[in-house]
Amino acid sequence: MTQTNLKSDVLTKDEQYVWHSMKPYNPQATYVVEKSDGARIIDTDGVEYIDAMAGLWCVNVGYGRKELADAAHEQMMKNAYAPLSQGHLPAVQLAEKLNNLLGGEYVIFFSNSGSEANETAFKIARQYHQQKGQSSRYKIVSRYRAYHGNSFGALAATGQAERKYKYEPLSPGFIHVAPPDQYREHEDDAVAPLDLASVRAVDKTMTWELSDTIAAMILEPIITGGGVIMPPENYLKGIEEVCKKHGALMIVDEVICGFGRTGKPFGFMNYGVKPDIITMAKGITSAYLPLSATAVKREIYEAFTGTDAYGYFRHVNTFGGSPVACAVALKNIEILEQEALFDRSKEMGKATLQILQENLQDHTNVGDVRGRGLLIGIELVVDKVSKEPLPVEKVNAVIAACKEQGVIIGKNGATVAGFNNVLTLSPPLNIIREDLQRILDVVVESIRKL
Ligand code: PMP
Repeated sequence: MTQTNLKSDVLTKDEQYVWHSMKPYNPQATYVVEKSDGARIIDTDGVEYIDAMAGLWCVNVGYGRKELADAAHEQMMKNAYAPLSQGHLPAVQLAEKLNNLLGGEYVIFFSNSGSEANETAFKIARQYHQQKGQSSRYKIVSRYRAYHGNSFGALAATGQAERKYKYEPLSPGFIHVAPPDQYREHEDDAVAPLDLASVRAVDKTMTWELSDTIAAMILEPIITGGGVIMPPENYLKGIEEVCKKHGALMIVDEVICGFGRTGKPFGFMNYGVKPDIITMAKGITSAYLPLSATAVKREIYEAFTGTDAYGYFRHVNTFGGSPVACAVALKNIEILEQEALFDRSKEMGKATLQILQENLQDHTNVGDVRGRGLLIGIELVVDKVSKEPLPVEKVNAVIAACKEQGVIIGKNGATVAGFNNVLTLSPPLNIIREDLQRILDVVVESIRKL
């Protein structure tokens, strides 16, 4: 079969049989991946792209890692499956490793996806308070603009209306507060620094909702899918204090920020907090296999170990923490550490941010360039004064121009109020310098053409 035939045949069948997530099918924009290596993916037509998004912010150690394939193969031959109602060695080793990475004190519950890790956290938070005799605590506070998953609880926690629309009513008991947005709200600092004002707003919400009804607050260290929204430096510390004051658990969603994306093992480590519960997925295996985890402080776990007939955590799943996924995660973390990819993300992220800022800050349509580690957002606006979000067609034109030149970048934000205007970069943490340079050249040039 010739290349052209192969393309049309594959794309025809793709359109016929595969229900793609989110977007309606678009044969012009869609490519079908055949193989990949490092930060490069090659489609069925032989066209090569640099993947500046590492898939969905997840292939942290890059594509084509033989060590990960070998780890999966070896574990499959040794033992492909054992449920975690019993135990197996890779889960023990991985839980110990995660606890060490997190700085101690945590017990780990395994699932398969970020959504499940968050569902698990919500159930643990609610049941924990019941175990402690505080059965009135059920509300989960979360933030507008953040994404926490697709299931009824995780979607209820999500603060992006367009993702919920037509699926409601979702799970009850979720309350939203506004996140600080330093780019758009800076001028309001006259009243109080933004971190202080935002933390006070959470404090007031918990007070007016009645502290005794609040089970937990969930937040990402940096809002990722909502448009790389950076917290003011003291915000997370303030939230930690407010949670303590109201007796609520602090849940940090590290599904994207974890495993080096922000230049530290976990994103919260940039902000000096010690969360009660930490959820993670994606980069835990660099997406080579589905796996997620909910790390819970031991003192919380201990509330589930009594003799009460319904006092144990009655949540179960078949595949979560499978031996093969755990073996791959262990090898993945070993690679992240041996290749010093947490530090590399920090250093290369800093340099990348600087280059983008220098090359783009004078452009009318560039409102803000921000990020931490290899997690970067470029907010496009109509002009710097109005800060009105650039219409999505123009944002899409930049993305298409990048793709045309072989670079895949992301677009994030929210379609409500037209805030679908943040270009995102989240490449593999081991991306070679030439590929990163190519991404920068193409992105700068494509924006400059606006
Ligand atoms: N939390 C965050 C911050 C996410 O970005 C995502 C997915 N993009 C999820 C949770 C849900 O993860 P999953 O798609 O694996 O269910």
